[in-house]
Parts: sequence; structure tokens; C-alpha cells
Amino acid sequence: MLILVFVNIYSATQTRNLMFQTKYAAAMDKLQPLVSSFETLDNLTAESASQVIAVLGDLHVGRVVVTDASGLALYDSGTTESEQGKYVLSEEIHQALCGNDTFYCVYENATLRSRASMPVMAYNEPIGCVFIADSDAEQGQIIANLERNILQASMILELAIILLSVLFSYIGSIRMRKILLSVRMAREGEYSQKIRLHGGDELSKLAVEFNKLTERLQASEDAQKQFVSDASHELKTPLASIKLLSDSILQNEMDASTMREFVTDIGTEADRLTRMTQKLLTLNHTETAENVEHEVVDLDDVVSRVFRMLVPLAADREIELTGSFAHDCTVLSAEDDIYQIVFNLVENGIKYNHSQGSVHVTLLRGDDDVMIVIEDTGSGIPKDALGHIFERFYRVDKARSRQAGGSGLGLSIVKELVSRNLGTIHVSSTEDVGTRFTVTFPFFAISEEQEHEE
Ligand code: ADP
Repeated sequence: MLILVFVNIYSATQTRNLMFQTKYAAAMDKLQPLVSSFETLDNLTAESASQVIAVLGDLHVGRVVVTDASGLALYDSGTTESEQGKYVLSEEIHQALCGNDTFYCVYENATLRSRASMPVMAYNEPIGCVFIADSDAEQGQIIANLERNILQASMILELAIILLSVLFSYIGSIRMRKILLSVRMAREGEYSQKIRLHGGDELSKLAVEFNKLTERLQASEDAQKQFVSDASHELKTPLASIKLLSDSILQNEMDASTMREFVTDIGTEADRLTRMTQKLLTLNHTETAENVEHEVVDLDDVVSRVFRMLVPLAADREIELTGSFAHDCTVLSAEDDIYQIVFNLVENGIKYNHSQGSVHVTLLRGDDDVMIVIEDTGSGIPKDALGHIFERFYRVDKARSRQAGGSGLGLSIVKELVSRNLGTIHVSSTEDVGTRFTVTFPFFAISEEQEHEE
């Protein structure tokens, strides 16, 4: 609105100034020949003034007054109130008789009124003056029309701006209210409310991002609920066994050897509970730990350490544990993480194997990466289960896994650790033939200096 008011005032002032300048030039053009003619006269009298004006013909001016040096009107073309023969006491004539040119122009009532005067000089002295006055309704009308048109256009524009502003803010507030409603519902824990906004503006983009956010929150809440329910279910089974066994001991008369057997079973269940809670803690720690300290790890050493730890279990199950290691398989990662990864995979290879079977670990060096391949000749994993084995508490054969002391958490821990150390894991398996896990990490070359230091 302010800009439009400014445009109106500015354009009106400019047009008027332009018109005033034109009027000034026209007045001077008319005064100049008149004054020059009078300056050539020997004597400035009423007769000589009338004669000169008659010779010059129609001057196209409303009124022409010629005065002598005292301000007495020698000639006045004004028809209504002619002042010929009288002294004219106007400011313009007074100024002209003092030797100054004057010009005054005003725009009022759609008419341009202009007045101008010029002295008639002889020997550097004013001997009289010429005064002209004119009113131009035609040009005044042009100014009036122009100003009216600009004002009308401004008002139409202003109205359009107001209407559009109201419309846009109304639409905007409806869209904003939709978003706010969904945000409030999400704050209360209701994620199903999706915001549907059309268009490609910022609000629509915000709605799309918000919908993605609530989807993620929903997924994470579902996963959390699932985890709590799975974990309580898994913990419930050994606890129920312990309760059952302890009730039997309390309620039944039994001999010492049966009681020992029952207490041993209670111990086994308690061990299982301990292992499971330990793994849950590891998993939680893996997910929440933000910065792990990376160091140069020689995979050769780690796999040898895992082998030393698992030889007794392999011997117990009559499984052959073998390995072939390439040189310089070094990576930059957390050594404990690598140990845990290899341990879990080799332990699974032993656990889910037949007696007389084998587990073979190969270390391979590529140009940019290092691969750990763990192959076993065990039971294999069915095709439809392959996509689930990295999920928490997932077990292909629950009974067998439980019997083998499994909790269904080992591979989910492996997956978390591998991605935390910028690696990838791949599994391929054929039922009753065996399983192969391939873990890849970026190769980290150690310089000779480091090697010497070591
Ligand atoms: P668990 O503690 O039960 O071993 P994991 O997460 O380590 O849990 O493994 C998930 C499931 O994947 C196991 O229950 C088992 O059925 C299957 N699995 C894992 N490794 C192997 C393997 N090398 N051979 C056959 N099955 C395996």
C-alpha cells in the first residue's frame, strides 16, 4: 500500500513538473519576441504598445499586459477586467520592473494556470514590462486523466493484492493447521496420522519429511516392542524351567542323585540366562557406543586366538578346525570387535555341524580389501531363512539352537559389529552341505616404520 501511495505521489509530481517546464518554455518563447520588439521602440507608449501587439498578431495567450516603468498598464488584452490606464499592483510586475524575469504556474481544478513577466530594458534600465497570464484546461485535463488512471490502477492492484493475501494466508493456515495437528498427535505417540498436502512448496516438502519421520518412529517403536516381547519370551523359558525344577525338588521326595540331576539342570538354565543377558548387553553396547577406538589389527593373530579358544569345543564335537591365511591382512578397526565377529561365526560353524565335520577359515587379500571366509560342512540354512538369520532372536531350528546353547543373538551382534567397522557380511548356504560367511573390511596398509615399531 505504501509503495502504491508513493508511486501515485511520485508520478503526479513528475507529470506536473514536466508540464510546468513545458509551460515555462512556452511563456518565455512568447515573452521574448514581445520584449525584443518593445526594446526597439524609441518611446514606450499606449499607442506604440498596441501597434506592436497588432503587428505580432494572435499570441495565443489568455491575457497580455504591458506597463511602463511606473507600473501603469499601457496595454491590457484582458476583456473582463481590463486594467488599461491603471496601475497594476501585482508581484510579477513589481519583480519585472526591478529587472527580474518571473514565472509562476499552478495546477488547480483540472486547469494549468501560468503567469510570467519580463522587463523591457533600455540602456540597462527597465522602462517597462510585459506580463502574460494563461489558463490551459486541455493540458490540465491530461494531468487529471493521468492521475485518475494511475489511482484507479493502483486501487485495483491494491484490491487484488489484499484478496490474494487473504486467500494465500487462508490456504497457508489450513495447511499449517494440518501439519500442527499431526505434530500434536505424533507428540502423543500416534504415528498413523499422515499429512496429505498437494504441491511442491516448502510446506508440502515439510509434510513429506514429517511423514517419513513418523514412519521411522513407528518402525523403531515397533522394533522396540518386538524386542522387549522377544526378550521377555526368551528369558521366560529358562525361568519357567528353573521354577518347575525347583518346585519338583520341594514337592517330591527324591534321592540324592535325582536331586543332583535337577540342580545341575537348574545350573544349566541359569548359565543360559547369563549367556543371554550377556549377549543382550553386548548388543545394547554395540548399538549405543558412539566412538570405538580403531587400531591396526592383524587378522591372522585374531583368527589364531579364536582358534585357540574354540579348539576344545571343536574337539568335543569332533569337528576339524582348519585355516589358510594370506600375509598382511591388516585392517583398521577395534580388535575386540573383530575377535567377537570371527568367534561367533566359527562357533556357529562348530555348533551347527555334524560330528566329523569341518570348519575352515580363509583370509584373503584384495587390492583394497581383506576377506575372512568361514566355511563349514554343517546342516546349512534353508533358503527362506537366509534373509532372517541376522534378526534378533531368530533361530532356524529353535530346539536345536537351544540345545546348542544358542540365543538367536549371535548373528545380530555380528552384523552390528561389522557395519560399525565399515565392513560388509554376506552369507551363502546349501542345506545339508554347509554354510559360508564372507566378511569384508577395507585393507589398511601399514608403513615400514610402523612395522619396525611393532
Ligand atoms: P544362536 O545363538 O541361536 O546361534 P545366531 O544369531 O548366531 O543365534 O544364529 C541364528 C540362527 O542362524 C541359528 O539359530 C541357526 O539356526 C542359524 N545359523 C547360524 N549360523 C549357522 C551355520 N553356520 N550353519 C547353520 N545354521 C546357522
